[in-house]
Amino acid sequence: MSTLLIKDLKVVAGEEPILNGVNLEIKAGEVHALMGPNGTGKSTLSETIMGNPLYQIVEGQIFLDGQDITTMSVDERARAGMFLAMQYPTEVVGISNADFIHAALNARNGNQPVAILPFLNELKQQMDFLEIDEDYADRGLNADFSGGEKKRNEILQMMMLKPSFAILDEIDSGLDIDALQIVAKGINAMRSDEFSCLMVTHYQRLLNYVVPDVVHIMMGGKIVKTGGPELAQELEKTGYADLSGAVEGSD
Ligand code: ADP
Ligand code: MG
Ligand code: MG
Repeated sequence: MSTLLIKDLKVVAGEEPILNGVNLEIKAGEVHALMGPNGTGKSTLSETIMGNPLYQIVEGQIFLDGQDITTMSVDERARAGMFLAMQYPTEVVGISNADFIHAALNARNGNQPVAILPFLNELKQQMDFLEIDEDYADRGLNADFSGGEKKRNEILQMMMLKPSFAILDEIDSGLDIDALQIVAKGINAMRSDEFSCLMVTHYQRLLNYVVPDVVHIMMGGKIVKTGGPELAQELEKTGYADLSGAVEGSD
């Protein structure tokens, strides 16, 4: 079980203030969607929750299950059960996809090696489930993967690592309808009382397949509106323009 609590988070990248006081609570078992226009700080929030040192916290705190994780390293957060599917997954030529996931699992288990045969069996099973071709296990991590394949591969990593809290940053971008349904199937398969999730998306479309418990809208580095799934539908009709009045101190 994982509850994420973010209190008055202010973050700068370089000199630039990007997050201007984010408050957010995601309880165990909940899926939250985070929407908002481009450049508003959604990826910055995602990376900051995971501990990317490029983003400097100048104020506020992040708690996981009541424990203050604000200064923890990415590795420590991963071991605590957190997972980030990045908006732009990294390509690594020299290491195979299977080896990468196995290494990540070992690291997550505090370097207790995970037996290779059961690992490969489960990998094959999850790849079948996500309709990923078998030879993707031996190919370089994300190397020459299409945009959609990278996204599906992020879901594969999540299903193998079984985080208790996942952040999925634009996991739906660049997906055709078949790939979107497969990605949604993977996320829905993770849903349980033991799993919570922040899904960053521009589009309501994904939310037809993974129905969120809560929807937040971020503008100007703040969450300006929170509601249920109907908020995303409203947004699809009206766009963000009607909400710009809700942003204080933005230009
Ligand atoms: P979103 O994901 O909502 O599109 P981002 O978090 O990617 O927004 O970006 C928010 C703002 O922060 C943008 O103006 C972007 O240029 C800036 N930004 C993001 N990352 C960095 C960085 N590492 N250094 C400087 N500025 C950054
Ligand atoms: Mg963006
Ligand atoms: Mg982004």
